[in-house]
Amino acid sequence: MEKLKQKKLFLLDMDGTIYLDNDLFEGTLPLLKYIREIGGKYLFLTNNSSKSVSAYIEKSKNNVIDTT
Ligand SMILES: [Mg+2]
Repeated sequence: MEKLKQKKLFLLDMDGTIYLDNDLFEGTLPLLKYIREIGGKYLFLTNNSSKSVSAYIEKSKNNVIDTT
């Protein structure tokens, strides 16, 4: 855990990593909260080109992922 606290930027794959279909995984929000608490930042990435950027933005809003 100490090494994790030293990290400041977390790149998170989206599909199948922070959610599956329309369901966030149980640990997703606690992980994002933890990253903020240690002063880190996170970015969401995907290699899934089946949806547009705007579709991913909408999905993030609908899943209440704090992107601030
Ligand atoms: Mg994936």
